[in-house]
Amino acid sequence: MGDAVVIVGAGQAGAQLAMSLRQGGHAGPIRMVSDEPYLPYQRPPLSKKFLAEYRDPDSLFLRPESFWRDHHVQCELGAAAGEIRPKERRVLLRNGREIPYGTLALATGTSARALPVPGVDLPGVFSLRRIDDVVALRPAITAAERIVIVGGGYIGLEVAAVVRTEGRSVTVLEAEDRVLKRVAGPATSDFFDRYHRQHGVDIRLGARLVAIEADGRALRTRLTPDDALAADLVLVATGARANDDLAAAAGLTCQDGIMVDEFARTSAPDIFAIGDCTRFPSRRYGRRLRLESVQNAIDQAKAAAAVILGKPQPYDPVPWFWSDQYDIKLQIAGLAEGYEAVGTVGDPGAAHFSVEYRRGGRLIAVDAVNDARAHMLARRRIAEETAAVAETART
Ligand code: FAD
Repeated sequence: MGDAVVIVGAGQAGAQLAMSLRQGGHAGPIRMVSDEPYLPYQRPPLSKKFLAEYRDPDSLFLRPESFWRDHHVQCELGAAAGEIRPKERRVLLRNGREIPYGTLALATGTSARALPVPGVDLPGVFSLRRIDDVVALRPAITAAERIVIVGGGYIGLEVAAVVRTEGRSVTVLEAEDRVLKRVAGPATSDFFDRYHRQHGVDIRLGARLVAIEADGRALRTRLTPDDALAADLVLVATGARANDDLAAAAGLTCQDGIMVDEFARTSAPDIFAIGDCTRFPSRRYGRRLRLESVQNAIDQAKAAAAVILGKPQPYDPVPWFWSDQYDIKLQIAGLAEGYEAVGTVGDPGAAHFSVEYRRGGRLIAVDAVNDARAHMLARRRIAEETAAVAETART
């Protein structure tokens, strides 16, 4: 098995790598190890439909068990990798087993960012990254009247939409001056802020949580010495950090993410890294990016597969992303950074519009609200209009 492709992390990126290798004709052994007890699954529904409808976890699986069996992809579930020994080409699992590899791919994703305030470990305080988080969270939501969500990013707002639709009282605490600040421009933030308030969500901007306190069987989220909100349940949704510890301990270069080149190669021979856990160079944007999106997980995995299959293609995507809240689908194409002009097309009042961001006359990003056509068009136009920038950087 020394020639095996071993994939650590069986999420969106790990699964895509295995699938693309088989599709591309790779005949050697492929082994995926995951510290979760589930076959590879899609995470986006965890804060949307799956949380609302709470079905069998199998409904999230990217492929049924038979697919992996038929394609001879060995899945070792509930098996965390604890150490990599690049010189020996081995992965040591925490259960004591050792796996030799010919090629290693790290697809370890992210973990919920720890919030450095007292009380985050109290019962009734949750985060949301995995199926097992929903397994714990869903019954607690069902039993709760008053829910406080810390963080007005897309996961916090998606959960707010789900629980508000169920008629529960929801407060969102956002430390910044607007919601969705990390992913969207002010016009998009304003639209979602208004939409949530119209649905009865209490959004508090500039609200910095300093502690969570126990209050009998309930909780109190404290903002200042005199300002605290009672809650039956607190969801901390303040972002994620790259799972790069394993790579860093093995001597691979990491900087808030595993550093890779445009072919998903790390600083160690025959070790690739893909998906949320990586930081990769983008000529298109003139800097390194760490993205948390299905698009990036799939496309970067395909890029790594192409290298392993001997057909390397540099990876320099136009990122895209989506979020579902109530009856609204937000689709973001490109990165709205360093823009000089913004324009709105369509009618925010009718919840059907897009916000276009331009730099140097070029379209660099579009936030489309309930407008799939505008989103698809934007992806093509941004790719074309930013390609020249990438080309200049290349020469
Ligand atoms: P993951 O899918 O996170 O998989 C990484 C896997 O590696 C995990 O199973 C992890 O447990 C495992 N692992 C980590 N360390 C080890 C180890 N040492 N040994 C073994 N296994 C290990 N993206 C969108 O584009 N649109 C959305 O609407 C959207 N919604 C989201 C909602 C939620 C609630 C979450 C959590 C994410 C959402 N995302 C969304 C982001 C998207 O799901 C991720 O970008 C994508 O899953 C990244 O894929 P990945 O394979 O890099 O990581």
